[in-house]
Amino acid sequence: MRKGTLICLFFGILGLAPSLVYAQPGRNFDAVQVETKQVQGNIYMLTGAGGNVTAQVGTDGVLLVDTQFAPMAPKILAAVRKLSDKPIRYIINTHVHTDHSGGNEGLAKPDGATIVAHENVLKVMKSPKDGTADDRFRTAQGSWPKETFTEKKTFHFNGEDIDIIHIPAAHSAGDSIVFFHGSNVISGGDVFAIVRYPVVDFDGGGRVPGMIAGLDRIITLSDPSKVKGRAYIIPGHGRLCDREDVIKYRDMSVIIRNRVQDMIKKGMTLKQVQASKPTWDYEPLYGATSGLAATDSFIEDLYNSLTAVSRK
Ligand SMILES: [Zn+2]
Repeated sequence: MRKGTLICLFFGILGLAPSLVYAQPGRNFDAVQVETKQVQGNIYMLTGAGGNVTAQVGTDGVLLVDTQFAPMAPKILAAVRKLSDKPIRYIINTHVHTDHSGGNEGLAKPDGATIVAHENVLKVMKSPKDGTADDRFRTAQGSWPKETFTEKKTFHFNGEDIDIIHIPAAHSAGDSIVFFHGSNVISGGDVFAIVRYPVVDFDGGGRVPGMIAGLDRIITLSDPSKVKGRAYIIPGHGRLCDREDVIKYRDMSVIIRNRVQDMIKKGMTLKQVQASKPTWDYEPLYGATSGLAATDSFIEDLYNSLTAVSRK
């Protein structure tokens, strides 16, 4: 087994817990440490509990992509203060799940940062569902984006152009990837979470073909013939990646998509598709038996994604 495979498995095990459920009710975050890694240019990657955080730092101030779970906010803030004494000016959410947006309020408040996200993120935040702790964090007004957009938002901060690009119907209905042109870094959010199969929030508008389109977009943006030097991609969960990692992950997604598509064409039911194990050769890397990222759950979301049009 190659070293890379071992690393993926290691992070797969670590990464599964926060990704199984978007909320972590009752979880104690006291022992969780935030680690900071310099990526390149103005960009740092912060890990702790929940999705990865991107920090862009410079003379204009600090910009963050995603904020982990709400209880992690003080630790993220402390880590950001070590990088810069400038205020946090912007917080971008790649999507609505609270392992990526829970810390919005705690990180926006101290410096009056502006939260930016796709308009569908705000729509979900404005619609309380079940009154759980997760729901309360999501619907707290201090967590809501003040600036929203539909397809793409571009701005200039810390000496580089930044594109926030909406990926329709992918991991959810409100995903964005963030491209830092000068630093040559892309924050992929959960459109690209290297630790697991392409998990979609099906009820929240997520579909596997949209995930693949999002991966293709990252691969296009990081094409070395268009950008100078090596691009780095910060995934929603897991280790720092480069373009080759995204290509392999996209190819895996397409291979399994094609297998399941062929089985649907033959008239196979979901149960029959799951029983025939179309993911068999990828199971050592991504296989799981329980939770949202479980193999059967992935196949169900893929099957439903591919048959959704004909069922309507
Ligand atoms: Zn997510």
